[in-house]
Amino acid sequence: MDIDARRAALAQLHTVVDACRRCAIGSTRTKVVCGVGDPASPLVIVGEGPGESEDRQGEPFVGRAGELLTRMLAAIGLRREDVFITNTIKCRASTDAGGRIANRAPMQEEMANCREYLDNELEIVEPRIILALGAPAARSFLGPGFSITRQRGMWFRGPNGCDLMATYHPAYVLRLTGGNINAVKKLVWADLQAVRAKLDAVAGDVAPRAHLGVDAALERSSSQASDPDSGEEIELKLDL
Ligand code: URA
Repeated sequence: MDIDARRAALAQLHTVVDACRRCAIGSTRTKVVCGVGDPASPLVIVGEGPGESEDRQGEPFVGRAGELLTRMLAAIGLRREDVFITNTIKCRASTDAGGRIANRAPMQEEMANCREYLDNELEIVEPRIILALGAPAARSFLGPGFSITRQRGMWFRGPNGCDLMATYHPAYVLRLTGGNINAVKKLVWADLQAVRAKLDAVAGDVAPRAHLGVDAALERSSSQASDPDSGEEIELKLDL
């Protein structure tokens, strides 16, 4: 599929999702939040589900966690628009917390109802790599036994044979307090570097899927690439 066909297919899917009322949250959402970014990117990022800011703007990862995700991507030389960013569910899972609308975790049924749309996005974008953010997104691919603490940073076989890794969700990193902050950031940084290395390997692949925009991004980032053994640079990168 060429890039225009992918764009058109995603726009068509957006129309379908917009009309979806499979779950109750289809009626409480403000906007559906479908994936955005490069429709031919080799890297797809999958989060859990939209929060308040995303629900308002109709775009994934535009709140605080999104700002951190943008910085995480920048740390490996990628702009948001170089990758495709989406979620396991396309509507905000919310609950009335005494007159205040609060986010809640998606229900299994909501994730199951929405799975078709995530699969459609992946069929259109055809990523070589998926980075799942947080346990719920990882479990949606790898099953309920997946442990984010024990299995993050490992490569798994994802949909359509792509490589899939999970790391901690940026919202979790933002919530951390106390002594383990740096330890967790180090793990996230290691995971991001592994994704970067896999992306470089994929870009070096002679397969015709290599995409110009991403090639340009890779070129740009390799000129920015830091010495991974330089302590100073690692400190900088850890400032997520
Ligand atoms: N958290 C997610 O998992 N997805 C978003 O789009 C925003 C926050």
